[in-house]
Amino acid sequence: MQYRLLIIGGGASGLAAAVTAAQCGADGVALLERLPRPGKKILATGNGRCNLSHAGIVPGDYAGSFDVSQILANFGDAVAFFEGLGLLCRTDGEGRIYPYSMTAAAVLDALRMQLGGTSLLTDSQVTGLRPIPGGWRVETETASYTSARVIFAAGGHAAPKHGTDGSAWAMLDALGIPLVPPKPILCPLRSEAKLLRPLKGLRVRADVTLLDRGKAVRTESGEVQFTETALSGICLFNMAAHVDPSRIGDFSVRICVLPGHDPAAVLYALQATRAGQTAEDMLTGIIHRPLARHVLKTAQIRADLPCEQLGYHEMQRLGDVLSGMVFPVTGLAGFDQAQATAGGVRGVALDEHLQVRSCPGLYVTGEAVDVHGPCGGWQLHWCWASGAAAAHHALGI
Ligand SMILES: Cc1cc2nc3c(=O)[nH]c(=O)nc-3n(C[C@H](O)[C@H](O)[C@H](O)COP(=O)(O)OP(=O)(O)OC[C@H]3O[C@@H](n4cnc5c(N)ncnc54)[C@H](O)[C@@H]3O)c2cc1C
Repeated sequence: MQYRLLIIGGGASGLAAAVTAAQCGADGVALLERLPRPGKKILATGNGRCNLSHAGIVPGDYAGSFDVSQILANFGDAVAFFEGLGLLCRTDGEGRIYPYSMTAAAVLDALRMQLGGTSLLTDSQVTGLRPIPGGWRVETETASYTSARVIFAAGGHAAPKHGTDGSAWAMLDALGIPLVPPKPILCPLRSEAKLLRPLKGLRVRADVTLLDRGKAVRTESGEVQFTETALSGICLFNMAAHVDPSRIGDFSVRICVLPGHDPAAVLYALQATRAGQTAEDMLTGIIHRPLARHVLKTAQIRADLPCEQLGYHEMQRLGDVLSGMVFPVTGLAGFDQAQATAGGVRGVALDEHLQVRSCPGLYVTGEAVDVHGPCGGWQLHWCWASGAAAAHHALGI
């Protein structure tokens, strides 16, 4: 079958491309999705609420080898894009943009309802992609299509249960397109189980700093979740992109559980108020008991020591630990726990419209491009913008 535009992958950027094509009244467009339905990952985003963009996005927020400035400027506002699809949005106090109904299904519905004449070919895993005179041949296990233009929107390696195991990148590799190797990002950071096990299940508000050979790389405030093997939470997710797995031993995380407080002042006040209690009981006024035990152990103080016996040096050590508990990073959680992929098609391989320079008529969008942003709507914003940009250029509209 001969098409004008074939889109490989029915995720965020592929659907944005298809909707853009429909809005422009293009015919001869089809979207190939390996799963029985498109947009499975969209339903899982933002804990089922879909944090579809952020009010404060600027190009400099994105890392990777492709300069996103022009694409983001042309796309403009994600709220306007979605309101154009009939989806009202709301922005929370921290600038995160959601559908007004706070349900990710509403986002997917809004996209699906505006596909117009685009043929939706599900259960269609693309296995081959090669240039032919005047366009491209796209093969699935059961069919073969030709198209003047192709948008590769098959995502990255993260969250394979949503259809993205990264296997589609082999088609780009086979075409000689340079790829930055994939790395899981927006994921928990693994640390030593013997340190974490006693803290499993705890959630604390903290200032978190990623250290590279002891030097601060990035600091964020937020909730830290302790699991049996990893440190999790949005602030940790944002650190993953800055960790180089090839020299993992250089990285550690420093956690301050008394942000905004002078630890000495807090400790001396507690010591005065809780005279007669143990050191562990003294600390339960500010942190969870398992964490208090960890802090005392790290500060080499007996948990059952009467707190009035804590002298200057003990109080100093306690203060230091409360404002800087250090956990070595032993790895990044795998792609199955990551929300996104760093890596993808190198920026130099793409023109400003996301067309592969060495493969005219082939475009790459979303996570398949070496572009990534922080947690909070940046990923999806890039997907909508890149999908729309590629569709406009591919269709010449
Ligand atoms: C749990 C979770 C929560 C998240 N929450 C947010 C959030 O709130 N805000 C945010 O900005 N980002 C969030 N993200 C990240 C965001 O969802 C992704 O970055 C984004 O969906 C990537 O879009 P994409 O178009 O590149 O690819 P995807 O959305 O991953 O879609 C790729 C599609 O291609 C299909 N496909 C793959 N290979 C083939 C093939 N060979 N043939 C045919 N089809 C194929 C896949 O089945 C999939 O449907 C979250 C991610 C996860 C996993």
